[in-house]
Amino acid sequence: MRISIPNIPLPSAKNPAFVNPLADISHTDAVQRVKRFLDQGRGKGLVLTGAGVSVDSGIRAYRGTEGHYTQNPNFRPIFYGELMDTGPKGDLYRIPDWARSFIGYVPVRKAVPNPTHMYIASLQRLGLAPTLITQNVDRLHHKASPYPLTETDRRTLELHGTLHYVHCPKNHHVLERDEWQKLLASLNPRWQEIVEETRGRPVKMNPDGDVDLGEVQYDQFVVPSCGECEKNGIKGSIVKPNVVFFGETITEEVKDRSHKMIDDASSVLAMGTSLATYSAFRLIKQAVDAKKPVLILSTGPTRADGLPGVDKIEMRAGPVLEDVLQLYLNGRQGPAYDHVRHLMTKGVIKEAPQSRTPPPEASSAGS
Ligand SMILES: [Zn+2]
Repeated sequence: MRISIPNIPLPSAKNPAFVNPLADISHTDAVQRVKRFLDQGRGKGLVLTGAGVSVDSGIRAYRGTEGHYTQNPNFRPIFYGELMDTGPKGDLYRIPDWARSFIGYVPVRKAVPNPTHMYIASLQRLGLAPTLITQNVDRLHHKASPYPLTETDRRTLELHGTLHYVHCPKNHHVLERDEWQKLLASLNPRWQEIVEETRGRPVKMNPDGDVDLGEVQYDQFVVPSCGECEKNGIKGSIVKPNVVFFGETITEEVKDRSHKMIDDASSVLAMGTSLATYSAFRLIKQAVDAKKPVLILSTGPTRADGLPGVDKIEMRAGPVLEDVLQLYLNGRQGPAYDHVRHLMTKGVIKEAPQSRTPPPEASSAGS
């Protein structure tokens, strides 16, 4: 079966004449320009991030869901319709997908924020860009946050959801992913052993991109239905991660909240994103239409290249942000500055796993 996977409409194809006036900007000028941009935001700036900011945490581009699909050419992501199909055909897709996801979630769970996450947290702490919309589902902005969870949730929108929770369609049962992983481990003890055996070591891959598990088969993985639903007499209620899958639409609630956050922001600084997903690109459009300044700090082409009202600096966000923050710190004293000095030391860079290790997360999202 051939299935076409949504892909980025690259500006090189859409707008071949685009010449970036900031193409040759020096690092020093980029730092000054980003600082000016933040100053103009007058403490109401919004940061929008994508997969690029998580690369230094060893998380490769995700396969699955709405996003750009780069990870494994032999593998196609599960689609929302297949995931939610309660018939035998659904099981055929869903059960192996959960098996992969069970293994693939382990490195995501263990991933820690890298310096770029900490610099973005520092922008928040200094009140320069207090709100954040991320397309990432890895929870790393939450892990980097200088605030308690409720305050972090108030300031942060995970546009494509998070792997941190799973839920059933009735939505009355939202479970921490760790609890769900434990439940899957208890029902699939041999798989749990494999997770422990392969931890951190290269593993054998099948031609289709799955981890080679020897005697156990992907379709023999046991996935329970929602326990709360069972109690209420609803059989076979499907549990899925709280992420937006290919073919699934973002909820109205999330959509409304994202538009409100852009409405309330004075400017948008997009980092580490190609804006390939329409849900993210639409937010940039909204900001431009409202005449809010938009600056992209990211390497590689983006969907918003050449869009009037959008400036773009083609550099990695981390090194630029580090020097921007140094300009703000500049010998200043006080709790916020001291806190930021501490935050800035906290990021950890981890190499992306080699190609023969399992995918970071089988059933998830975003680019
Ligand atoms: Zn349920």
